[in-house]
Formats: sequence, structure tokens, C-alpha cells
Amino acid sequence: MRNHAALSEEFNKDEARVDWHDETLWFIRQKRDRAVHAIPEWEWLRETGSQIKNNVLSNLSTYLEQFETNALKNGVQVHWAADAKEHNEIVLSIMKRHQADRMVKSKSMLTEECHLNDFLAENGVEVIDSDLGERIVQLAKEPPSHIVLPCIHKKKEEIGDLFHEHLGTASGEADPQVLTEAARQHLRDTFLTRKVALTGVNFAIAETGEFVVCTNEGNADMGAHLSDVHIACMGIEKIIPERKHLSVFLRLLTRSATGQPITTYSSHFMKPRQGQEMHIVLVDNGRSRQLGRPDFRNSLKCIRCGSCMNTCPVYRRSGGHSYHTTIAGPIGAILAPNLDMKDHADLPFASTLCGSCSNVCPVKIDIHDQLYKWRQVLVKEGHVDAVKAAGMKAMAYTFANPSVFEVAGKSGRWFMKNFPSLVSNRLNPWYKEREMPEPPKESFREWYSKNRKKS
Ligand code: SF4
Repeated sequence: MRNHAALSEEFNKDEARVDWHDETLWFIRQKRDRAVHAIPEWEWLRETGSQIKNNVLSNLSTYLEQFETNALKNGVQVHWAADAKEHNEIVLSIMKRHQADRMVKSKSMLTEECHLNDFLAENGVEVIDSDLGERIVQLAKEPPSHIVLPCIHKKKEEIGDLFHEHLGTASGEADPQVLTEAARQHLRDTFLTRKVALTGVNFAIAETGEFVVCTNEGNADMGAHLSDVHIACMGIEKIIPERKHLSVFLRLLTRSATGQPITTYSSHFMKPRQGQEMHIVLVDNGRSRQLGRPDFRNSLKCIRCGSCMNTCPVYRRSGGHSYHTTIAGPIGAILAPNLDMKDHADLPFASTLCGSCSNVCPVKIDIHDQLYKWRQVLVKEGHVDAVKAAGMKAMAYTFANPSVFEVAGKSGRWFMKNFPSLVSNRLNPWYKEREMPEPPKESFREWYSKNRKKS
């Protein structure tokens, strides 16, 4: 079974990589802080963004239907997918209708969630990811490790080796400028020869039926504008009521993500250009179920900025792949159990509950509270390790009975003093990275009763 602790241990074997990963993400967190502190109305923006999303979640079906009506009026073909399978089949059917076996795709975490690339490959369709980070992990046959910075776990030398193998750059070449130029040439050819382009969606506007795609590289625009068929795929929570609400979210998004004041390209797509076909696929895939969980519905407010990952001390030192789910980090840990509670039961425990994620979240999701609440749900549903569950029960009994607590404390101190290896050994994961402290001579209770008597 996949397990965050075991996968983190793998990542931690390369200590230099861990340090550099940690420092790079912290650098981005600091950039975010500077950008945020530069605008006095930041907290107002967060509150407004959060309230707009509250409204969206309370009226989701109304806004989605309004969006569909307006998109149809604009000449866009609208599809509804209940789950990942339906989403993938819809995309494949469009490809087949156009007899296309090649596609260029910009960054879309939804298609990662639905494992679209693998599905299309099994059905004879070649997909080229056009976001640079996504292309790098695609060449490495790895999933993205971060929602904004998909290859943040890779060193430039490793990227150089990949490009040497796949794009023919010189062996040992690791200059980012040279590598970026090689990727640029390679992708340009892809853009010019693909009939079908797929993009994600950052925001879909109910009022107008348009959608907005934010990228720093302009790759979504290149793909969409040069293709005969543009397919845009979005989770149903991406809807916002009116165009004016973009002014809030666009200001929140990139400041939180990378510390930039605005994304380089925020492109609006409303209708297909003459001769082009435009499709939008609206995907549920468990979102309605999450909406029905009062404690967890707020997780659907997420605008995928990634700042909860950049700030999380666990994410920074365990790497995105240790979360074994499409969306890593704190937000992934509260979204994934909704999709598969058993398979992701370890994730809400991969947190210190320090609350830094909730502090930086631009739409005020109570992430650390939800992590704590998921733990309670998972324990009740029986999805925690049997040894841990038995240990917790024993601890609860001990804490609830003062005489048992006293005896346990005394014997624990005696064992720690006389047989330290019984406590601190390789079988006890707590001591793998820790020094065992000197056991105290007496408990606080013993000290207190002695000193109180004296006084
Ligand atoms: S939960 Fe909040 S901080 Fe994390 S990615 Fe989503 S919007 Fe950003």
C-alpha cells in the first residue's frame, strides 16, 4: 500500500535535494509575502474571494446551467462528465470524430486527475504537454509534483540529461536558457502540426459563458489559436458568477502562486473563431460528493495557487510524489480522501497542523481544520493502521484513569533508564531521527505533592 511516510523516506535519502527543494519553495513563499504585503487591501481581497466562492458553492447548479446556456449561445459545444472515465471518453470521441491521433495540451490538473494522457495513449493518441514543467515530467515519465511548478523536484542537470536524450541537446548541457530554447523550438513544431489542442480552465464565467486560462508561457494560447479544435476541460467548481469577479481572483491567484502581480497571459475564450470548433467538458468526478460534506465543502473553493504547498514544512521536506495523488500538499490531503478514503487515509496525517496553509490560502480555506476533521472521519471509518488504533485506545484508557497513568509513568521511566533499547530501537519509528531524552527522576505529580507538602 502506498504510504506518505515511506515515500517521504525515499525522497529524504537525497539530503542535498531535500535542502534545495525546501529552500526553493521557501524562496517562493517569501516572494509571495512581499507581493501580498505590497497591497494594503490583501485581506479584503481574500475575504471577498472567499465570499464569492461561498455564493458559488451554494448555487453551483444555477451558475453551471447559466454558463451552459451562454456557452451554447456563443457556439461552444458543452459536455457533462460525471467522472474521470466519462471525461476521457468524451475527449477521445472528439479526437475520433476529427480523425486526429495527436494532441497538444496545456497544463490541466483535471486531466492529470483523470489520467487522460495514459487513456489517450492506450487508444493510439499521442499527447504532447506544452507547459515546460509538464513537458519535462512527461519526458521523465513522472507525474507532476506540484500544481504550479510540476518539475520543482528536478535539478537542472537532470533536465539537461532528459533533453539530451529526447531533444538532442549537447551532453552535459544544463544552462537553463539553452534548455528553454531547445524546448521552445521543439514545442513550436508541435503547435504548428496539431489539429486538436486541449487546455485547462482557471475560471469559467456564468454571466457570459466564457472561460479564462492563465499561463506564464503563452502555451495555452499557442495551442488553442493554431488548432482546428479546442477542447477545454474544467472541474465544475471553477465557475464564477460574473466577469467583474475576475478582478478579485486574478489579483489573488498569481501573487499567491509565484509572487507576481499578475499572470503573464490571462486569456479569455468565448467563442470559436471562424472554422474552428470549441468544446468545453464540465467534470464532476466526486466534487458533488465533497459539496455534500459540510466539513469539507470549502475545499472546493481552491483556485490552485499552490501557496499552501510552498509554505508547508512537511511538503517542502517530503516532495510532491510522497502524496501519491494528483494534487499534493495540504490541499491534496483534504481533497484526496473524498475520492478514495482507503487509499488516501495516510494523507491527512502528513501534517504538523501548524496552520500555515490556512494562513496563506487566498480564498481562506480552513485547510488545517479540515486535515484534523479528516483524521477523525478516517478513524471512525476504520481506515487507520490497526497497531496505531490499538495504541491510541490504550493511551485514551491510560489518560482517563489517574492510577493507571501513574503506574504507566513510573514503569515507563524505569524501563527508559534500565532498558533504553526496549524503547529506542529501529522498530520504533519515532526514534529513527530522534535522540532519546534522559528519563526524569520523578514525575511532575510526585514533585508537586512533595513540594506542596513542604510548603
Ligand atoms: S487550498 Fe488555498 S493555498 Fe492551497 S492551492 Fe488552493 S487556493 Fe491555493
